Amino acid sequence: MGIEQTLLPTPERWLARSCPDDPVFFFCPVRLQQVARRFREGFPGLVTYAVKANPAPEVLDGLVAAGVRAFDVASPAEMALVRRHCPDAVLHYHNPVRSEAEIEAGIEQGCVSWSVDRMRELDKLARLPRGTEVAVRLKLPVTGAAYDFGAKFGAEPGLAVALLRRVAEMGFTPSLTFHPGTQCRTAAPWARYIHTAAEIAREAGVALCRLNVGGGFPSDRGEGRPELETIFDTISGAARAAFESPPQLVCEPGRGLCAEALMLALRVKTVEEEAVFVNDGIYGGMAEWRDLGPMGRLRVVRPDGLPRGGALRARIVFGPTCDSLDRLPEPVVLPEAIREDDYIVFEGMGAYSRALVTGFNGYGARRIVRMTAGC
Ligand SMILES: *Cc1c(COP(=O)(O)O)cnc(C)c1O
Repeated sequence: MGIEQTLLPTPERWLARSCPDDPVFFFCPVRLQQVARRFREGFPGLVTYAVKANPAPEVLDGLVAAGVRAFDVASPAEMALVRRHCPDAVLHYHNPVRSEAEIEAGIEQGCVSWSVDRMRELDKLARLPRGTEVAVRLKLPVTGAAYDFGAKFGAEPGLAVALLRRVAEMGFTPSLTFHPGTQCRTAAPWARYIHTAAEIAREAGVALCRLNVGGGFPSDRGEGRPELETIFDTISGAARAAFESPPQLVCEPGRGLCAEALMLALRVKTVEEEAVFVNDGIYGGMAEWRDLGPMGRLRVVRPDGLPRGGALRARIVFGPTCDSLDRLPEPVVLPEAIREDDYIVFEGMGAYSRALVTGFNGYGARRIVRMTAGC
């Protein structure tokens, strides 16, 4: 899975020259830097990166180059990966269910913050050094995200109070954490969570060291540039309003930080009246389409690199494998005149795309081309 470099200014030019028959990701370091700067300058606290959204070496290196030093990791393999790219990285182990062997690995790798959402898992952390930060993961029935993150992890407010007291009794540094759900287009879920977090801390009689407001920051899937600064302002305003002395704030974006950094180009294998077959699908870089709905930022490019224009029509898009589930859930509006060997270029594909590619049936996007001259 090596990385190629190109000085060509656009994916179109590279596609016209290389005519790849496999799906190709294009990595744009400039865009990654720009988004990282928006977070680091705008977020009122510590910015950590949720590695699972895109663990590609070039993304990790790009974020380290942009000054990101803290990472949300969920497994020993992610810890080791981050340490390889940033030996002095600050690791937050925010997967609240861990085997004993995973706890051992987290201690060995020097994780400084651990989340919990149930008593049994907190008891398992008893051997961590006193003073270690343990953040209680809260969940609320909030709406506004593309799908609900509370369905698996998180303690309801009553349990969160009990956990927070116990964390303090065990001699750990008490914090709270939540994840409002991925792809939140408005700031409302954060405001609601922060307000409840303050109530929980008061009821527990525990002063929070930090409040981690999770990921969930949106990317542009066709609705326009996300209003990150509005969300940042709401978060800092809500924390000031809810707490007498606000805890330090932390965020752990995955999608919001890395989505803009990659584009994905697929090749059309055949065109029918009602359908097109392309060379990657839901077992590859298009996996999220099922859960998040359509990605509206696409363009069709002829083999010579020029845009395929003209009238539009919706067609079913099938992926390349022999599994009939391998199709996008809803028809996609494409130029009527789309042809075999055209390319479909999707923007904003940096998050949960390359990370979810499987090799099922021998397919899957493996190549990354780095655009060194902008995008
Ligand atoms: C997945 C995850 C994130 C990142 O979520 P995004 O919606 O991609 O920002 C952050 N924190 C935790 C604990 C996660 O599981």
